[in-house]
Amino acid sequence: MKLSLNTATVKKQWNLAQMIEGCARHEIRGISPWRDQVAQMGLKEAVKSINSHGLSVTGLCRGGFFTARNWRDDNRRAIEEAHALGAQCLVLVVGGLAEGSKDLISSRERVREGIATILPEARKAGVPLAIEPLHPMQAAERACINTLEQALDLCELLQDGIGVAVDVYHVWWDPKLEQQIKRAGKKRILAYHICDWLVPTRDLLNDRGMMGDGVIDLPRIRSWVEGAGYSGFHEVEIFSELDWWQRDPDEVLRICKDRYVRFT
Ligand code: ZN
Repeated sequence: MKLSLNTATVKKQWNLAQMIEGCARHEIRGISPWRDQVAQMGLKEAVKSINSHGLSVTGLCRGGFFTARNWRDDNRRAIEEAHALGAQCLVLVVGGLAEGSKDLISSRERVREGIATILPEARKAGVPLAIEPLHPMQAAERACINTLEQALDLCELLQDGIGVAVDVYHVWWDPKLEQQIKRAGKKRILAYHICDWLVPTRDLLNDRGMMGDGVIDLPRIRSWVEGAGYSGFHEVEIFSELDWWQRDPDEVLRICKDRYVRFT
């Protein structure tokens, strides 16, 4: 089973130590931690525990936010942490509009320059950078890269050591999705994130659904991603204030596994 747990899925219930143990207990072989959780546990301790439980780190969440003031140091640290964890990629949520700005075009330029600036360090550290295009509803606050096409254009410009994280929640609606997944191919697809889109969606950020509870055609998207040559983990990432963060985390992990088998 190529299931990985993005630790946001149980972040309200467990700390990272508990998440690592939970993955091991439920035979989930991959984990993708968030940096605040790693910091809380301590980087060395996190590395030790993840390794001793034999988990693959399918990504570190997250670097990016190139339109924020402290982006340079923050991304440098993120690369170091990803390297220490042996993460398969550092996920980049690139940032939205700069504070007080309405200039989306210049924000996108800043993002491009920011990635180009940190890329040599990431290459040297052996940490692939994974641009995660976010749903356009997040363009102002979180990421002004909003389609796979836009992310891949940037990858081509910057060449090696960079690819994309395909998160179904952000890209499922895109009429060019199949075409762009094919274009990305094995070389550029560095991570695959799964969950579901609920109807109605009650909150723009924290109302993601469990696989099978929404309207995303997960088997079809999976077939495109695997057809393009991706053979890595499938990472469950569910932000869910009203439902999954309220539940017993062992139950959440059990259901993730079951739904992964039946609905993806
Ligand atoms: Zn994601």
